[in-house]
Amino acid sequence: MKSSSLLAWLLLQELQFELLLASEVAMSELGRPVSSKRRLKDLLLQKDNRFCADCNAPDPQWASANIGVFICLKCCGVHRSLGAHISKVLSVTLDEWSDEEIDAMIEVGGNSSANSIYEAYISQGSVKPGPDANHELRKNFIRSKYERQEFVKPSLRIKSGRMNSKGIMDNLRSTSGSHEDGKGGFIGNLKVKVIKGTDLAIRDMMTSDPYVIFTLGQQTVQTTVVKSNLNPVWNEELMLSVTRPFPLLNLKVFDYDFFSSDDIMGEADIDLQPLISSAMNYGDPSMFEDMQIGIWMKSQDNALIDDSEVKIVGGKVKQEILIKLQNVESGELELALEWMPFDH
Ligand SMILES: [Zn+2]
Repeated sequence: MKSSSLLAWLLLQELQFELLLASEVAMSELGRPVSSKRRLKDLLLQKDNRFCADCNAPDPQWASANIGVFICLKCCGVHRSLGAHISKVLSVTLDEWSDEEIDAMIEVGGNSSANSIYEAYISQGSVKPGPDANHELRKNFIRSKYERQEFVKPSLRIKSGRMNSKGIMDNLRSTSGSHEDGKGGFIGNLKVKVIKGTDLAIRDMMTSDPYVIFTLGQQTVQTTVVKSNLNPVWNEELMLSVTRPFPLLNLKVFDYDFFSSDDIMGEADIDLQPLISSAMNYGDPSMFEDMQIGIWMKSQDNALIDDSEVKIVGGKVKQEILIKLQNVESGELELALEWMPFDH
């Protein structure tokens, strides 16, 4: 009798313990703090956020919650010195974030989206600091970029009150006309002109028969095959339609092989964010003189050989790109993009 009541007591204890565990699991799975923090971490893991928005130092662990950029420790020190009305600095790992702050970061969309606003008008003469820049250079640049908003389109600048990227983005939406997406989130067409390849890899004894395939989400387009040429000139225009949210544009160069499956000769990812964001900042490009409106910066994390400027040229938004092919022994590719927004 006694032992059975002990057994019952033990079972009850175990049941209570399991209930306790179950409720804790439920809280950590359903509780807001965990999922918010995870959304922030996911944003930090996005490719463009793996480098400081201001100096390109790798692995930034700080963020400006109102501006919406991830930054390194050194740049964080400068941001903090500007005051919280300019930049509210938080640690991604150590600080408590409100849901609103996380939502605002996500709405800005990360470093390349923020930089397409804050560095849209950066002139070729002004120097962006590198990871090892001295404090003076770093401070001057960060003050120009956010406090004085020198590189922001003038009509979008926030003149008084608290700095915030959401405000700038709202201004942007209201000044650049209606940019509601078309059917199925369609926002425009991307014309990709494949100009030429240089020093491509040899895949077929002495030479290769190269062609290029572009993939954007589910869409695939490709160039013609150029026979026996490691420096092929295509000058061929391909068209892709772009819906939101748009992924990276992937390109792969292949060697056409009549007898067996085609060999890969390198690849690269192209970030369309700088082109599309800066085009949307300006609205109708035919209203503007020729000028630079944005930039895709060369970094350790992309395949660019040089910074790639987004420009208005003859009333069209264009971007020339020089790519070093990845995962291959050699090869460069020259492209020109043109953005054609969806007309209502
Ligand atoms: Zn930095």
